[in-house]
Amino acid sequence: MICTTCPYCGVGCGVRASYKNGVTTIEGDKEHPANFGRLCSKGSALGETTGPEDRLLYPQIGDERTSWDEALNLVAAKFNQTVDEHGPDSVAFYVSGQILTEDYYVANKLMKGAIGSANIDTNSRLCMASSVVGHKRAFGTDTVPGTYDDLELADLLILVGSNLAWCHPVIYQRVAAAKQVRPDMKVVVIDPRRTATCELADLHLTITPDGDTALFNKLLVALHKRGVTDTQWMTTATEGFAAALEAAQADTGETGLAPDEEAIFFDWVCNTEKTVTVYSQGVNQSRGGTDKVNAILNCHLSTGRIGRPGMGPFSITGQPNAMGGREVGGLANQLAAHMDFALEDVDRVARFWDTPGIAKKPGLKAIDMFQAVAGGRVKAIWIMGTNPVDSLPEANSVAKALAACPFVVVSDVVNETDTLAYADVVLPAAAWGEKDGTVTNSERRISRQRPFMAAPGDAKPDWWQICQVAHRMGCAGFDYETPAQIFAEHARLSAFENNGTRDFDIGAWANTDETRYNAMTPFRWPARTDGETAERFFADGRFYTPSGRGRFVAVSSPAAKTVDPAFPMTLNTGRIRDHWHTMTRTARSPRLSAHIAEPYCEIHPADAARLGIKEATLVRIASPKGEAVIRALITDRQMQGHVFAPMHWTSVTSSAGRIDTVVPAITDPFSGQPASKNVAVTVTALSPAAYGFAVMQERPDPQSEDLLYWALAKCDGGWRMEFALSEGQSFAPPQAPDVSVNDGAGGRRDLWFDGDRLKAAIFTSPRPVAVARSWAVEQLSVNHNPQTRSFLGAGRPGAGQPDKGAIVCSCNSVGANEIGAAIHAGCTTIDAVGTATQAGTNCGSCRSEIATMISQFTNSEEGGAHVAPLAAE
Ligand code: SF4
Repeated sequence: MICTTCPYCGVGCGVRASYKNGVTTIEGDKEHPANFGRLCSKGSALGETTGPEDRLLYPQIGDERTSWDEALNLVAAKFNQTVDEHGPDSVAFYVSGQILTEDYYVANKLMKGAIGSANIDTNSRLCMASSVVGHKRAFGTDTVPGTYDDLELADLLILVGSNLAWCHPVIYQRVAAAKQVRPDMKVVVIDPRRTATCELADLHLTITPDGDTALFNKLLVALHKRGVTDTQWMTTATEGFAAALEAAQADTGETGLAPDEEAIFFDWVCNTEKTVTVYSQGVNQSRGGTDKVNAILNCHLSTGRIGRPGMGPFSITGQPNAMGGREVGGLANQLAAHMDFALEDVDRVARFWDTPGIAKKPGLKAIDMFQAVAGGRVKAIWIMGTNPVDSLPEANSVAKALAACPFVVVSDVVNETDTLAYADVVLPAAAWGEKDGTVTNSERRISRQRPFMAAPGDAKPDWWQICQVAHRMGCAGFDYETPAQIFAEHARLSAFENNGTRDFDIGAWANTDETRYNAMTPFRWPARTDGETAERFFADGRFYTPSGRGRFVAVSSPAAKTVDPAFPMTLNTGRIRDHWHTMTRTARSPRLSAHIAEPYCEIHPADAARLGIKEATLVRIASPKGEAVIRALITDRQMQGHVFAPMHWTSVTSSAGRIDTVVPAITDPFSGQPASKNVAVTVTALSPAAYGFAVMQERPDPQSEDLLYWALAKCDGGWRMEFALSEGQSFAPPQAPDVSVNDGAGGRRDLWFDGDRLKAAIFTSPRPVAVARSWAVEQLSVNHNPQTRSFLGAGRPGAGQPDKGAIVCSCNSVGANEIGAAIHAGCTTIDAVGTATQAGTNCGSCRSEIATMISQFTNSEEGGAHVAPLAAE
């Protein structure tokens, strides 16, 4: 088996993989220091997402297949022509935290070095740009000081705006295991929503959105008042404390927390030296994200709790190679190798690359870039490995901008994304399992992604495509034959005239050849030419600011938002456990769609009652920018006045689930990162004429039917679809059904058979369809007799055919009803439920949900009447 790295989140788990006879085998790499063999549900299902199905196989100009030569010549000619006619800033690259460091390096070198514009930005702008700026303001450079081990070694772990259990499941598992060994370890979760991560929390602070700066400013004041700040450390190693303290004292921002809740939190932090603060998108995706980051860093700088075992701030990234992108300079406001646009940096990189025409100022950040496309200032754009028509805020405006752009190139892996529809040239890229290169995870650890299968059709690696275009544009310096050569140059640049002045230095890899590259085992940077490494940064009090001191930044809470009575609710967007980004890969796996198969929002019971929203009905969420139609999941995990909706659904998988159409393009003033949370919206109940649920062997084509609502997902044996109909609409195959049953309450069950096998079953009802979904899906994969046909007609399993309920454990396909039955039968621990049902015994991603179900049962006066899944079934 080949040792490679998972392509999903910033944990960067090691994977062992092989491909034989059409089957991909996946297991966790026990030797990899990020995961020690663990994989979450997404990583475990990687084998279901490889292969030629749904892939882009050939280059296209428009809709027509073409050769690589023709496609690349056209891209090079159009970019050259645009630059000649309108200057270097009239072109742009929008790249991705999915691409590998080597891809990133050559894309950055081509745009900034050869073309001479810094108009290259990455979708990592949406993920952690605020942390980058926060780090640079405080440390003088973009350094994550600590390691994953610190999260286990901490006595107090603070998770701010981080649903670790669902978004970084393997790190959550590591923390859960550490807490089991050391139950005195305390975990605080700071999040407006009671997420799955709260199962581990000793204290959950339901902070008001954007209240984090106020909370950490108050904490700074408390640390100072109680004499916990480390005066000696601050005197020798930092600057700017007085101004930061003054700003903190003057901050009148609201936290939304009760004074006693704040007091407990402050007590714990004041009394616990080994404190780690982990923060993620809940901090970064904010109109005040950078200030939030610095409010957190200020607290660590004031106590000297940084860069020592079990202590420090820790920004955990969403994407698999967001860190690699930062290292090469993939953001528009970075140059390369952790150098910026200071004169000496520009001069140094220009000499190293031999590109005198190098960009001399920052380029357009993501939101500005697409606004420049819309405004006609950017006339040619190359989008690599990302889907901005769904993932950027004001997503409909992005679509409009691309529709009007004179020349759009899209390189991707799959053949159906909302962005591909706007491409003038389509380039098929090699996918995970086929690509060769490196990625960097959230703890600065560089690991190899290695190929274990051939790319299908004419698909080629991104670095090759970029270098080919560079050649055809007449740019020198792109004669690489392998990713190893690119990596070696990247390493040389990191060490070039460095002499300890820059944190990012992997000079020890400057002379990498193929053999050494292929043998690379995961290592953490820095790895300097002289062999010097550093487990952690800054404990020695040396920073990368001009003075060499860590900098406090005086920060204040953002001004309170004025409530527009027309949009009185607050939308918070995020991610779910088993899907990734816009599902271009995870939607290929039936078991990943079994957990949550349609777009939904969480809404508080009081809001639902007030707005006339009943469980599992449909709602419209709207802002002045757009609207989405999704399913309502009524739950007190959500604060009153707030709704949560995931960002994964697109026009490929749903009729109107694109939640980023609703989000306005408001950005943090320092980082340019969009505020994807705290969005003013209305929520309205919809009243369809009928609801429906279908399981079908063949993929239906709901796009052509203009249904009021639909959401399509793969399942074992075919497809499952939720839908809703307006008055007069219907949805059915053209042939008459073999069995048709009226349910006596206005609903129907129509069944089509192909011999003994079920071809399609469509259940409709004036109310949300009450059919057991996982049972109905299983009926596609079994032979039927007259009796089982009658059960299908009745819409429920017969005796002896238990309904497992909504899938909670995707790995072992264990449903909520089975887990509920085990809990009712006396299983009071996750492990006991696992022994009884197998749930949670493979990847462990569902263990927090099982814990929630156990505690709901334990705390329920009705003796478990509240045992319910987190999923929206
Ligand atoms: Fe992949 Fe899951 Fe590990 Fe993230 S936690 S890298 S998604 S296996």
